[in-house]
Amino acid sequence: MLFKRAMLLVCAVSIFLPLAAGATTNNPAIDIQQAPARPKNIIIMIGDGMGPEYTSAYRYYQDNPNTEEVEETVFDRLLVGMASTYPARVSGYVTDSAASATALSSGIKTYNGAIGVDEHKKPISSIMQIAKKKGMSTGVAVKSQVNHATPAGFLAHNESRQNYVAIAESYIDTDADVILGGGQRYFSETLINKFKDKGYQYITELSQLDSVKKPKVLGLFADIELPLAVNDKDINSLTIETKKAISLLSQNPNGFVLLVEGSLIDWGGHDNDIVSAMGEMEEFANTIEVVEQYVRDHPDTLVVITADHNTGGLSIGANGVYAWDPQLIKGVNASPKHIAEKANEDQNWQQNMITSLGFTPDSHELQTLADAREEGTKALTTAIKQLISLKSNTGWTSGGHTGVDVQVFADGPGANLFRGHQDNTDIAKKMISLLP
Ligand SMILES: [Zn+2]
Repeated sequence: MLFKRAMLLVCAVSIFLPLAAGATTNNPAIDIQQAPARPKNIIIMIGDGMGPEYTSAYRYYQDNPNTEEVEETVFDRLLVGMASTYPARVSGYVTDSAASATALSSGIKTYNGAIGVDEHKKPISSIMQIAKKKGMSTGVAVKSQVNHATPAGFLAHNESRQNYVAIAESYIDTDADVILGGGQRYFSETLINKFKDKGYQYITELSQLDSVKKPKVLGLFADIELPLAVNDKDINSLTIETKKAISLLSQNPNGFVLLVEGSLIDWGGHDNDIVSAMGEMEEFANTIEVVEQYVRDHPDTLVVITADHNTGGLSIGANGVYAWDPQLIKGVNASPKHIAEKANEDQNWQQNMITSLGFTPDSHELQTLADAREEGTKALTTAIKQLISLKSNTGWTSGGHTGVDVQVFADGPGANLFRGHQDNTDIAKKMISLLP
């Protein structure tokens, strides 16, 4: 067994070091003698839909325009490489979150919609299951429902991501120690009782996390997804979940594997809603900074951050104009949907909307908003999003995913293995090779 483990590491190092050494124009070449040490813990962080334009946009979004320099972000600090995301042949070049999560968790390409199964719908082992067999603890901390495609791709096996109830029910067998996110509606009382019988503490409020002492916890904090950061500014739910997950999982002397997902970046992208997308980026970046600090304090922990794919075809600058106005986006104090819902029940909606938007639309724009309001909340939400995109010169090419490569960020022992170009399946293979 020990021999086998040693062979695996040698394999990983010999396969991947030439790639790492070849990608070092401004980094000192890696000495084979300094082969990366094996981490005890691995934290995998996925920004769902977080293509490269999201991290660029976030840089300008968080920039202080009153200083000469554009401040570096946590993404700029931790960047090591890029990854292709295409799914199995049968699904073409543009992946969905299920196929991508399966690739990132198991190293195998599959069809879009597949959860932890291969092209022939056969279950395949994920890093979570392999870690469990080695006596490690595992967990997920997400903002979507916990049985949504990305966490499901790490914990479950199902031929379709749409089988939400079956996926939730299968979690009882995964033995994941920490399951935090949304999705109450998919967990029946019978299922919750099964979790309790297995020793899980079940909680429904983020504030209850403080009191959790058991190593096993199922925390479902919303019916489906957790509130958007932009509507929930004091909370930072993903950071709270992540801190608690680490503190519980790190009690295992054999180490842990944790998946953290900034789930709703993707939802903002699908909605072509730059305000919500940037709010989610900020929360995800804050959570990465917490993990970055943990890695500094615990040099035995590797963090690998990537996206499962890009969403929306976001463009920084649009309409033929050489400009992008993140300050306008930052000035909007709630999601467009939230603003529209409020406006529909409000006599004084125009004045209140101007307050929420943080800018005053011209008379033509106000008329467009008034006409949309007559049609209902959905039309008004769309009109608000379009107005914000237009005025900030934010562009979108799709309501779905796009096939551009995504970035890979890493820190801690083994981080060098993720340098340069790789496929998303390589990310899983490298992480699995680094398990004890
Ligand atoms: Zn998506």
